[in-house]
Amino acid sequence: MDFHVLTLFPEMIENGMNTSITGRAISKGLLSLEAVNIRDFAFNKHQKVDDYPYGGGAGMLMQAEPVFLAWESIAQRIGRKPRVVYLTPQGKVFNQEMAKNMAMEEDLVFLCGHYEGIDERVLEEIVTDYVSIGDYVLTGGELPAMVMMDSISRMVPGVLSNQESGETESFAGNLLEYPQYSRPEEWHGKKVPEVLLSGHHANVEKWRREQSIIRTAKWRPDLLKRAELTNQEWNYVRQLKKQWKEESERNEDI
Ligand code: SAM
Repeated sequence: MDFHVLTLFPEMIENGMNTSITGRAISKGLLSLEAVNIRDFAFNKHQKVDDYPYGGGAGMLMQAEPVFLAWESIAQRIGRKPRVVYLTPQGKVFNQEMAKNMAMEEDLVFLCGHYEGIDERVLEEIVTDYVSIGDYVLTGGELPAMVMMDSISRMVPGVLSNQESGETESFAGNLLEYPQYSRPEEWHGKKVPEVLLSGHHANVEKWRREQSIIRTAKWRPDLLKRAELTNQEWNYVRQLKKQWKEESERNEDI
């Protein structure tokens, strides 16, 4: 997987990505990363890349031409028009399914905006996906690009040392992951659930599945609606919800 990032702050991308798991994957050659400085494609005296928006309004806009030339340099080098993600609060909100889908690309280009954003005309010409990382506004697209690259990297074979951990994490099958415990067996008077010490693999799996369902029903009921549960599990969810409703009504009465 080759990541290409169009940015005004290449050092931010390089510093952020060349550490930890992504850094190791880059050194191993499982991922490659190039941060292309859009300013290098601004052929004016001060390498200026922004200007006032037509019609007035606050702030500056990144101009179309340097962004286009920076993108063209990548397209020419790889010999085709790649998938281009423009990071924008106006895009589709990023999720695990999108990460999985994007991990299948050979090349992915991330376009990071700054100031008030980018001239619409170049977006129309080069962008294939408009993606947001959540309903809030950041100062630039660099952090969102790194968030996306980190999560996409985890789906690339070999990047995680234990491939299984990528497949059983939160959002697999639209369920959150179960709670986990490590040594010691007792901490601050809290004991590790007995079943996890039993060595009975099937019972451990059953407990974990149940905990995933409980946790998702409690914290992310929106996600649970899309989960693949058996009829028995759906009945369990109904029973849980009834129980929680009764408990909260009892608490209101007190
Ligand atoms: N004026 C723009 C608007 O209202 O949609 C916001 C511009 S924002 C200050 C500057 C840049 O930060 C954007 O071009 C985008 O690349 C990035 N950005 C800000 N918030 C983001 C978010 N939630 N997800 C992805 N990118 C974001």
